Amino acid sequence: MPGCPPWTGRCAAAVLTAGLLIAWAPEARPRPEIASSPAAEADIDTAAILRARVGPPHPETIAAYRDAGATAAAAHEISEAEWALVERALADLPPLHRRVLEQRLARLSFIDAPSSAGTALTRSFDGPDGEPLFEITLRADVLDKSLSDFLTGKEQMLFADDGSGYSVHVLAGETPALTYLLLHEATHVVDRTLALTTPRPPFGDIWSDYRTLAAPHASGPLGVTAYRRGPRLPVSQAPALYRALAGSPFVSLYSTASAGEDLAELAAWGRLSGRFRIPLTIEVRNAAGQPILTIEPLASPAVRARLEAAEALLERSAAQDPPVGWGVSARP
Ligand SMILES: [Zn+2]
Repeated sequence: MPGCPPWTGRCAAAVLTAGLLIAWAPEARPRPEIASSPAAEADIDTAAILRARVGPPHPETIAAYRDAGATAAAAHEISEAEWALVERALADLPPLHRRVLEQRLARLSFIDAPSSAGTALTRSFDGPDGEPLFEITLRADVLDKSLSDFLTGKEQMLFADDGSGYSVHVLAGETPALTYLLLHEATHVVDRTLALTTPRPPFGDIWSDYRTLAAPHASGPLGVTAYRRGPRLPVSQAPALYRALAGSPFVSLYSTASAGEDLAELAAWGRLSGRFRIPLTIEVRNAAGQPILTIEPLASPAVRARLEAAEALLERSAAQDPPVGWGVSARP
């Protein structure tokens, strides 16, 4: 979806192509307290609690999809097989994500809107305590997709056919795309709740502010993609673009959309590669289908360093009471 719907009241909306609306400026007020609980108990309890949050999309969410062109958008009824995928994806979330979702997620929904370009939408609104609650809505057709197919389709939307016959393929195994998507979207909720994306490592030297890339990333190939609100690029430029990605500290091109997307991608890939050993290879192929460029972002020392920094930031947030980012006075 190309933008955020005009929600009533205080609201932030996000789509994978547009990013969560999060101010870079430090929060001036104290953040809500996220109670800690023993990990084993949390595993059992939060799975059941989060399952109970699955429900039909909010009418405003359906309206937003329709307004964005998916005129047939409607609530998706989850099948038994899909329930198994949803429960697995919830169980695959890190403890901090599950704990924050348990306390701040109002609803997890699936929508039938296959013609929509937006895959996910996270909206927030004021809860009874004045702090934000969140609703995550995912396009239901991703339930049938592998991570490889989903990311390949998403990446190909960056390019326009120019007759070269080149194509871009993302190889990330047969893991369900839902596991990645829920990790990514839940990280936005964690970020918004704990105010993690602030001008400090692993963000401060790469982002001038929440949406502005710092030099040299802003002026190179990474600064002009559709993720940076540029036009689709001729697909023959794909080798140069992915060469630039391979030389950068970003785990994916989508990381360049904003500091929040950067964190969501780092957190998702840190979990996928660390806990589940999921690989990430990007190939540019010629007209004959032969790879002419292959990159492995997870093998890059610069990316690995940032994956570790993001993981450390999340672990500090999980361990501290109040967590890192808990209002101005708690920030380093
Ligand atoms: Zn996102």
